[in-house]
Amino acid sequence: MNLDLENPYILLTPGPLSTSPTVRAAMLRDWCTWDDDYNLGVVTPIREGLVKLATVTKPEDYTVVLMQGSGTFSVEAMIGSAVPENGRLLVLANGEYGNRLGRIAKTLKIDTIIHDSGELAPPDLGKLDAELSADKSITHVVCVHNETTTGMLNPLEAIASIVKRHDRLFLVDSMSAFGGIPLDVAELGIDFLVSSANKCIQGVPGFGFVIVKKSVLEKCKGNSRSVSLDLYDQWQGMEKGHGKWRYTSPTHVVRAFHQAMQELDEEGGVAARFARYTENQRRLVVGMEKLGFKCVLPHALHSPIITGFYNPEEPEYDFMKFYELLKEKGFVIYPGKVTGINSFRIGTIGHVFPDDITRLITAIEKSMYWVKEAAAV
Ligand SMILES: *Cc1c(COP(=O)(O)O)cnc(C)c1O
Repeated sequence: MNLDLENPYILLTPGPLSTSPTVRAAMLRDWCTWDDDYNLGVVTPIREGLVKLATVTKPEDYTVVLMQGSGTFSVEAMIGSAVPENGRLLVLANGEYGNRLGRIAKTLKIDTIIHDSGELAPPDLGKLDAELSADKSITHVVCVHNETTTGMLNPLEAIASIVKRHDRLFLVDSMSAFGGIPLDVAELGIDFLVSSANKCIQGVPGFGFVIVKKSVLEKCKGNSRSVSLDLYDQWQGMEKGHGKWRYTSPTHVVRAFHQAMQELDEEGGVAARFARYTENQRRLVVGMEKLGFKCVLPHALHSPIITGFYNPEEPEYDFMKFYELLKEKGFVIYPGKVTGINSFRIGTIGHVFPDDITRLITAIEKSMYWVKEAAAV
């Protein structure tokens, strides 16, 4: 039997992202889902811990619903369960994930307006303010926190303050930021915030979660356009069953997540993780710029999560060849996603440390065959 348990490379492709050996080891036993060992021993502490991560000011006002599937399933559950039949949703989009919010809403036949500021610009706050003043029928606003397409950190506080000034419900896709970038949902007035197991909390893929204001979720009964993605029903099931999932729970993944949350706490919480990711990204950009690479975004718009770089313009350069050379050296990077821009991306989250980034820069330098080839002619 060859189980191949050694990681041959670090994933710089969130997500999934690189996890610690102890998080992976936590998956090695089976769990009964009818039992308190699992529901009270694993699921309930996760739910309590997530609310504490989301707010220190008013944890009693919030609850969390865990949902099977990748992060998008939780986004779809959130949108489809939050907006009632007669609601109207405004989507702020500046990348693939913002566009996906709009696509989900339209597929669910929700009355939707999309403000698309383009992939290289932050949301237009003046336009948002004016639209909310002019159109009283808009009931909900949704945005992406860290737009993983480019690595742009959207101005969550400024958006939240406009949405709350106009007294609308505020939904956030914080998939790639929650747990890695400090925030307090109660302070910002966020009503729904979604993230998943395999982003900044550094678990393995398999479920997502929505942190919700209880008083808002209580009014969502019957909104859902789907049975399996009904956030209200899933919440009721978890509350009444003390951690019981309505349908088969991804037990091993949930147990690994429990371990990942413990490791987040041992690291020093979200502030310490934010500091590590920030140092990872700083080293990456300094090192890459020294090698002649250019960032897609201005530094001021960057999050510490993921960074886009232009592909070199030398005719000898080929992304797949570069990718393969780096993979041989133990690093996997991400193709670009920005329309019309020839780029690639490198993530700096997961079980990845500043020393790994230093080794990565050395590996990239050694993989820059096109520079040597150009010099050889
Ligand atoms: C990763 C991510 C998602 C969800 O992606 P899945 O592939 O469904 O897990 C959604 N939004 C953002 C901003 C993301 O980074």
